[in-house]
Order: sequence, then structure tokens, then C-alpha cells
Amino acid sequence: MAQAPSLRPTTAARPAPRAAAPAGSVGPAVRVGADRPATKRVGALSALWPFLRPYRVLMAAALVALVVTASISLILPVAVRRIVDGFDQGAQLLDKYFLAAIGITTLLAVGTALRYALVTRLGERVVADIRKAVFDRVIGLSPGFFEKVMTGEIISRITTDTTLILSVIGSSVSLALRQVLVAVGGLVMLLLTSAKLTGLLLLLVPVVVAPIFLLGRRLRVLARENQDWIASSSGTASESLLAAQTVQAFTHETLTRAEFADVTERSFVSARKRIDTRAVMTAVVIFLIFAGVTGVLWIGARDVRGGLMTVGELVQFVIYSIMVAGSVGALSEVWGELQRAAGATERLGELLATEDPIRDPVDPVALPQPVAGRIEFKGVSFRYPARPDAAALDDIDLAIEPGETVALVGPSGAGKTTVIQLVQRFRDPDAGAIAIDGVDLRHMARADFRRAIALVPQDPVIFGTTARENIRFGRPDATDDEIVAAAKAARADDFLRALPDGYDSQVGERGVMLSGGQKQRIAIARAILRDAPILLLDEATSALDSESEHLVQEAVERLARGRTTIVIAHRLSTVKNADRIVVMDHGRIVQQGTHDELMAQGGLYARLARLQFSHGIAA
Ligand code: ADP
Repeated sequence: MAQAPSLRPTTAARPAPRAAAPAGSVGPAVRVGADRPATKRVGALSALWPFLRPYRVLMAAALVALVVTASISLILPVAVRRIVDGFDQGAQLLDKYFLAAIGITTLLAVGTALRYALVTRLGERVVADIRKAVFDRVIGLSPGFFEKVMTGEIISRITTDTTLILSVIGSSVSLALRQVLVAVGGLVMLLLTSAKLTGLLLLLVPVVVAPIFLLGRRLRVLARENQDWIASSSGTASESLLAAQTVQAFTHETLTRAEFADVTERSFVSARKRIDTRAVMTAVVIFLIFAGVTGVLWIGARDVRGGLMTVGELVQFVIYSIMVAGSVGALSEVWGELQRAAGATERLGELLATEDPIRDPVDPVALPQPVAGRIEFKGVSFRYPARPDAAALDDIDLAIEPGETVALVGPSGAGKTTVIQLVQRFRDPDAGAIAIDGVDLRHMARADFRRAIALVPQDPVIFGTTARENIRFGRPDATDDEIVAAAKAARADDFLRALPDGYDSQVGERGVMLSGGQKQRIAIARAILRDAPILLLDEATSALDSESEHLVQEAVERLARGRTTIVIAHRLSTVKNADRIVVMDHGRIVQQGTHDELMAQGGLYARLARLQFSHGIAA
């Protein structure tokens, strides 16, 4: 049973992100859900360290620029006091103060620009690295993973989640550091300016911190929920968009729109909750801070009147307290950002840490060269984790000799596709072993033996690039001449030349510009180019017009010549050309032989042949 990757029943059966991961799933689910531990504290950001470490020099430079600019802003109020208090000390001194102020301002400007440039670059650099790392990890995972997670969700993780991290490294962290420096430095300067007033001010701190702490916790939970809904919304969208034609053909637009609208609305609602909480927090914090500062200033103003303080000192105190208050307020905002980024880091960390049940051995055995291409199944049984009750393969023994063509035949769900998946080690058998040239697949590196395999899937995958590059996918180092030769052998040369730009024509996303037969011939050319000793072929079930059918058949025959071939056969001509036909049913091999032998035997094959190949037999 071949399924379009975009319409997996496992994902379709999951209406909302709150659903639990399917039973029997392996590795940590990237799913959203109440079963997942709540977002960790901002400490989760420490997972970013491995990505930051290579850029220590950049970080140090940014830190220096940051400290310099923060220190300068801390000095400025002193200059202001001198100017205020020195107002009646003669013009010359005043000129000097103003000149110094210009100098400091220049330093501040340059320092700030430098800090911005360094920090932003660091952020972009690190995020680019994270994106690559996540993609590198995910693209290599075995199919079991993609049955649990929607592709769109992964894309959302790679785009939105990394964007959050970008905002953190690229600005929030440096802002936070700056605010901490200013707050602490400002506090010291406040103490130096007036210990009494500062003491009063400090009494306010617990009052301000309490709401930040309480609301902050709620904010963190909401932030994660929001990101999860965004990811889910992307997942739903990409799934439907990939199947847009099917959606329209079944006039399912209204329902599909409603589904997407629902998920998107939920993401909005959770965003609104987060925004409201944050707004309340901001209001409370700002009010508490400024009301407190105003109160303290009132006392200060009385001190000036009483001669306990100069006007300049009070001005200096005012500026510092505004700076400190502003920093604390900004910190509470930045804190929220940090929490959102912590959630994002955690999710990306989950993706990076996904355990793949299929792993290359630590010390792989090399596939003996030259590859003969003998494939052997010994007592192989297999159940899909999602369907533990039904055996997809049940004690299969099958040896395919080098150069032999074996046609797999059987009703839908018999296990034919599973055989092809297992030969490529996309899944491991639960019992028994599969070997190529006598070496167990589990003892080799997957890339090693997969190099000896060419695959022509039932629904050929065509990429949104030129026809030429699509064929080159089979062997990236192939020359243009080799590509043309492969296309000729695949009976694709004629139609490729007739395209507007010949081989360099863009074929559209997923090959939308090509007919079914043309796509198949490109896939065959790709396999010919790969020139691998083993060929796995899943014949298309969809009917082609007889001309295309003939061309595709010819191409397949050329391709299979001299290679060990396993073909899931749907056409009479294919089974007739095969050296051996293996008839499968319910995961077992029920009959073997040539077409004539099997027809003479009667049984499942004869029945299937009459039904499935009726067109061919009558002809
Ligand atoms: P065939 O190719 O002969 O039509 P398959 O090898 O695709 O059969 O399927 C064999 C059995 O395994 C079927 O019962 C099918 O429903 C089941 N199956 C196939 N793929 C999956 C999957 N990814 N998860 C769970 N069950 C699967």
C-alpha cells in the first residue's frame, strides 16, 4: 500500500496538537501536549552554548563594546551635575564640560554601533548554524520519525523557533546585559549621590519584583503554548497545500479552511493571552517603579529646600533613578523574550536530540567490492510500530541471485512495499536478517550499501529544478553527456529536447509540468545514471496511455538488464519478463515460479492475474 507522503493517516488522524503521540512511537515526541514537561526556566538557553562556543572572540568583542557604552551612559549624569552646579563658575570651565560631553557622546555613538554590529552578526551566525544542524539531523532520520511529526511543524521549528533565538542572541541578551550593567552601576552611583534616598528607593525593589516573578511564570507557559500552536498551524497548512488538488477534487475546501482557521485562531487566542498578561505586567511594573521614584523625589526636593543637597545632585539622582528604573522595566520585558527563546531552544533541542532507532554500527563492515548484488531475506518478520497487531512481513525467506529479476505480486497490503523498504534498511526486521552479498545490513553503514541501490518509486519524486538536475540527482558527479545518455536509455531524450529550454527547462515544483509517464521516465533515467547493481522498482499503478506505457516498459527493461532487480509488478509484461514471480499475501510468500508455471498451478496468482492483468491477458 503506497501512500502519498503528504496524506499519512497518522497525521490526518490527529486533529489538534493536544493529541498524544501514537502508541508505540519511538524517541521523544516532538508533539505538543500536556504530557510534555513544562517549559524549563531561562536556563534552557544554556543549550545554545555549543553553538556559541566557536564564536568566543566575537562574543568577547561584543562584550567589551557593551561594557564601554554602558559605562559611558553611567558617567553622563555626573557630567550633567557638573554643568548644572558649575553654571556660575565662569564660561571657560563650562566650555570644557561641554567639549568633554561631545567627546563622550562620540565614543558612545561609535561603541553602540559596534555593539549592534557585533551582536547582530553573532546572532545571525549562530542561528544559521542551528538551522543547518537541525536540518542535517532531521533529513537523515528514518521514516518512523516522519510518521510522528508533520513536515510543516519541523519547518516551523527551523524558521520561527530559530527566529526567536535570533532575537535573543541578536538583541535581547545584549540588551539584558546592558540593562543589568546600567541598573547595577546606576545603583552604585545613586548610593554615591545620596545614600538616604537610595535606601528609600531600595525598599521598593521587592514590591516591583514580586509581580514580575508571579506573572513571568504564567507568561512562560503561555509563550510555549503559543509557539506550539504556531507550529501546528504551519503543519496543517503545509499538509493541505501539498494536497491542494485532492482537497479541491473532493470539494473539501470549506472544511480544510475551517480546520486551518481553527488552529490559527487558537494560536491567536494563546498569543492574546500572552500579550494581555505581558501588558498587565508592564503596567503594574511601570506604575510601581515610577510612583515609588516620584515619592522618593518628593523627599529629595524637600532636602534641596532644606539645604541638605545641591540642585545638581538632585538632578543627578533623578537621572540615575530614571535610568535604573528604565533598566529594570526593560529587563522585565527582555525576561519575557528570554523565556520565549528558552521554549524555542528546548524544542529545537528535542529535534536535535531525537533518537533514531535505526543507527549505523560504530564500526561498520564495508560492502565487498565489486558488488555482486545478491539479496537474501532469512526468516524476516516485521510489524510497523504503529500497527503492532498485524505482521506486515511474516517469516519471509527469499534469496535473489545477482542479476536476477524478481517480480513481487500480491493484493494490496500484502507487504510488497515493506520488502523494498527493508532492503534499504529504512526499518529493521523484528526477527530474521537481511543481507546484501552475505553481509547483514545492520553491520554496514547505510550510505555504503544504499550506494549500490537505485530506486524507482511508484510516484516518482521530481524536484522543482531543471530536468537535467533532476536526472543528475541519481549521481551528482555525472557529466552532461552521461545525463543525456541516461535520458536516451530511459526513452526520455525526445520529450526532454522538445521542452521549451530542452534539458534546462524548469519542471515545476514536484514536476507539475510533466505527465505521469514523463516523470516516470525521468525517474528511470535517474536510476540508469546511478548505475547501481541493485534496482528496486515500484511500478506505477496508474494507467498510462499505451504509447507512454510502451516507452516506460522499454526503459525499465534496459534498466533492469544485468542488475539484481526487485520489482513490485502491476503489469503483465513485467511479470512475464521476470525471472521469477514471488506471490505475497498477508506478509507471507504463498507461491513462486514463472508466469506459466503459476498460471498452471492456479491459486492466488492465477486469480490475481485474471483480475489485475486482465487487460494484458486479453491482448
Ligand atoms: P503492499 O505494498 O503489498 O500493498 P505494504 O508493504 O505497503 O503492502 O503494507 C503491508 C502492511 O503494512 C499493510 O497492512 C499496511 O497497512 C501496513 N503498513 C504499511 N505501511 C505502514 C506504516 N507506515 N505504518 C503502519 N502500517 C503500515
